Amino acid sequence: MPPVLSPETRRALSERIRFYHELGVYDFYHRGSVASATEAGPLSDPDLETREEMPARKSTVAAKSAADSTRQILAPNPEQSVTDPVAALKLIREDLGDCTRCKLHKQGRKQIVFGVGNPHADLMFVGEGPGADEDEQGEPFVGRSGQLLNNMIKAMGIRREDVYIANVVKCRPPGNRAPERDESETCSPFLMRQIAAIKPKVVVALGAVSAKNLLAINAPMSELRGRFYDFTPAGARSSDPSWQGTKLAVTYHPAFLLRDPRQKSEAWKDLQMVMKFLGMKPPPKSE
Ligand code: URA
Repeated sequence: MPPVLSPETRRALSERIRFYHELGVYDFYHRGSVASATEAGPLSDPDLETREEMPARKSTVAAKSAADSTRQILAPNPEQSVTDPVAALKLIREDLGDCTRCKLHKQGRKQIVFGVGNPHADLMFVGEGPGADEDEQGEPFVGRSGQLLNNMIKAMGIRREDVYIANVVKCRPPGNRAPERDESETCSPFLMRQIAAIKPKVVVALGAVSAKNLLAINAPMSELRGRFYDFTPAGARSSDPSWQGTKLAVTYHPAFLLRDPRQKSEAWKDLQMVMKFLGMKPPPKSE
């Protein structure tokens, strides 16, 4: 239960937030639990989804929950003044700590799966959340989906170590269910900060859960794929004031492609679009 605040405290907090906004400070982070507990519902099959309104952007959510809780700590993100993405990611990881911000921490997670890869990557892949293998090994996409993702990366003519890979939520949802809305909203500010620290040229959202979280829109995969979006990570500021954000493309989640391999050619079209944008050429076919 969030603490009940007196009208005076509420007013004082609102005024403080408005004051920070007037100064141009929007990036608040919080310690303690987030109040919202609305379920997103199962989002497992990307093609069965219908259009509906998504919640407000995460920065707004963060500001709202700041007004709702005395446990909130208002401060710019610690990595914001750090230009080296390696150092910035380290600060974000430290800030995440042994996270207990959402209920996933007590639902059987073995470890936090922060992200892996090249902190200077031009290309970043974002999945949904760790599965059993990832929870075991502490690294995203190391199970069957990970093997397919590795093959997709290889087909692009690059190596897994060249890209950065992360998820919307950093703890395994029990039974590999999709992350619920409160879990995604609590965890995705860390993903946004990772993106702002790495500043990739392209983010590829793997599957509908990832795409909907990043873009804050709810549409079927058929509508989400096949184009680039201009993407700025909500609520996270890069240390580079000239950074204007990145391009975001959506493709099928490898787990979906394992279930329906006929869609691999469609996913390949998405990756080719990304490769063209990044000026990459696929490797010559081996004999
Ligand atoms: N599926 C995901 O979305 N992420 C992983 O890390 C593994 C499987």
